[in-house]
Amino acid sequence: MSVFLAQGIAGLLLMLWLTWLRQDQVAAIVHQLGDNAPIVIGVFIAFATTLALLKFELTEMIYVSLVLTAFMAFFPLLGGILTAWVAVVVSVTTRILGMKQIGWTKITVSDPRAEWIRTFGLFGTYGIPVIAASTLYESLGGEVPAMHPTPGAAMLIALCGAAMILTNQLVMFRAARAWGYSVSKIVKLDTIDSSIYFLTIPYAVVTALSYGAIGWGAVVALAFTGGVANFIARNLAITRSRSRQQVQRLASLTQIGKTISLRFTTDELLLAIYTECKKVIDCSLFSIALLDDERGELSFELDIRDDHVLPKERMPLGEGLNSWVVKHHQPLLLGSTADEHRMGIRSVPDTKATESWLGVPMMARDHVIGVIAVESYKKHAFTADDVLLLTAIANQAAVALENAHLYKDLEGLTYALEQRVLDRTNELRETNLRLLAADRSKNQFLANMSHELRTPLNSIIGFSSVLIEAGRSSLPQRMHKFLENIHTAGNHLLELINDILDLSKIEAGKMELRADEFDLRETIAAVERVMRGFAAEAKVQILVNIDPKVPQVRLDEGRLKQILFNLLSNAVKFSPHGGLVAVSCRFLPRSDSPLALDTVRVDVTDQGIGIPADELQRIFVEFYQTEEGRRIRGGGTGLGLSLTRNFVELHHGRIEVKSKPSEGSTFTLYLPVDYDEAAYNPRPYAEPHIHDHQTGFRS
Ligand code: ADP
Repeated sequence: MSVFLAQGIAGLLLMLWLTWLRQDQVAAIVHQLGDNAPIVIGVFIAFATTLALLKFELTEMIYVSLVLTAFMAFFPLLGGILTAWVAVVVSVTTRILGMKQIGWTKITVSDPRAEWIRTFGLFGTYGIPVIAASTLYESLGGEVPAMHPTPGAAMLIALCGAAMILTNQLVMFRAARAWGYSVSKIVKLDTIDSSIYFLTIPYAVVTALSYGAIGWGAVVALAFTGGVANFIARNLAITRSRSRQQVQRLASLTQIGKTISLRFTTDELLLAIYTECKKVIDCSLFSIALLDDERGELSFELDIRDDHVLPKERMPLGEGLNSWVVKHHQPLLLGSTADEHRMGIRSVPDTKATESWLGVPMMARDHVIGVIAVESYKKHAFTADDVLLLTAIANQAAVALENAHLYKDLEGLTYALEQRVLDRTNELRETNLRLLAADRSKNQFLANMSHELRTPLNSIIGFSSVLIEAGRSSLPQRMHKFLENIHTAGNHLLELINDILDLSKIEAGKMELRADEFDLRETIAAVERVMRGFAAEAKVQILVNIDPKVPQVRLDEGRLKQILFNLLSNAVKFSPHGGLVAVSCRFLPRSDSPLALDTVRVDVTDQGIGIPADELQRIFVEFYQTEEGRRIRGGGTGLGLSLTRNFVELHHGRIEVKSKPSEGSTFTLYLPVDYDEAAYNPRPYAEPHIHDHQTGFRS
């Protein structure tokens, strides 16, 4: 601002000093023009005013009015002093008109004090160049008023016109620097600016010299054509810039859609809308107010004035222009404060002394969610095109805002869902831990109880056995029978306890096998010997057939005996009187074995009640007994087969069963010859023998 102030003071002082110094010369010029003096001065004022008011945009950075042309044309007629005064008065007046938004050229007045200083600076901008040109003109012998249109006079006026243009650029140099332009940029802009003026020099020369030759009518005619030419040039420039703007707006509109839909937080989104809007709509103030239905308020989420972000504000619905837009669901365009009064809409009084106001509703699914408004210090700054453009932007913004909200909701939901999954996982983990603890205490309980039970049971079994032997002759028959019952029940209970203990050990993963080398023939024979009495009682015959190729095996002999006892006692138990139970044993080389190891295969076949197909899989489950089995034989625990399967699997072997009700069953064992080899080189099972599903089950 100080640059403009200094420029203005310098120009004013220079003009005052020269006016005082050369008042006689001024009087002489006016005298020489005689009656024509007021006409020539009037034409000059009209011509200069027209050109000054018709300022237009030349490039994106340069605004020109061809007003220097008028000053160049008139300084040879009126002399430097008069021309300078008229020039300054006209330019100051037209600028004030612009500030007051009167006439074609409107000036943005965001800071009135600065605008007045800038206007005062015009004393320098035009006063100094005119005086410089006329001083040069006179010192080179130029005639004032120019009455003789000779080539020499023309050359001189042209030369001094050029001097005026250059002085004008020099005076403006400091202001341009203060504006922040680099020297090279100033030179570039000045070259464009000056070249326009240089082109008008011949026209100014002709206008100046035509007075002497033809009279003031010619000057009027030339001034008129100059005004018209300027008017046409201005309109062409405006049309060009409008069409450029339209293309840019179209491109921006598509761009806006893309840009704003990528923003996820509301603030980011609003800022993006502002940035994109600013590119296509020339405004000094911009605001986005969102409707808060619950509180009946408008919340100004973004309020920008002259590129400064203002603090967020809230305003009750009902007052002001934004509320009008919300209420009427339609855009509102005001060209000036007078429009406001005329339409009877009252704006909320604030510090923004703007003239033009354009607000459009943001519509999302046919309800208003907010208002986008732009304002300008200029009157009638916005057009119908701007209304359409802002409406299109507002609609896209509304959709983007809705999406942002949906995204936020979705984020919330996802978070809630994640939280629930996390909670449930934690609950499951806790339950799991509780179950593990319960399982541990169950196993512990079983171990303790069985120990506690086994000690007295062993006494009961032992003493009852002794008493049976001792009292065989002396005790009455009934008492003897009781003792035998006690002995049997005790044994049964002991078996049950042992089985349960074994199972709980297996479940806890604590069952360990002790593999020893032994002869399977002997083991089978031993089991058969024990079973023989029981079989004889049941009138069942046991046949054993062992292939001589069966080698020595390395297994847990104790567990193997348990397996064989279980299978044989079941076979005998479920056989009819006179039935046959066959035990066969043979060797399978690894190539023929489903275990892919050297294997012994043991089959226990009976001709008993058999097992229905749908129960084949279940007999290996703890405590399971077939209905038929329970009905015919009763008793038993349902633990034998479950233990058997577990022992077989601990040996890395497998067990299969084939059966037909009323015809009999065959239980087949595959056991590795060497448990250690199976345990240290576990192999995937080869594809097992395929059984009819109706009759077979394998584990
Ligand atoms: P338990 O023999 O003590 O009942 P197991 O686990 O040894 O228990 O057998 C489970 C069930 O499988 C038996 O109750 C019986 O129903 C059935 N089962 C086992 N072996 C045979 C067999 N050889 N013939 C018919 N049914 C059998």
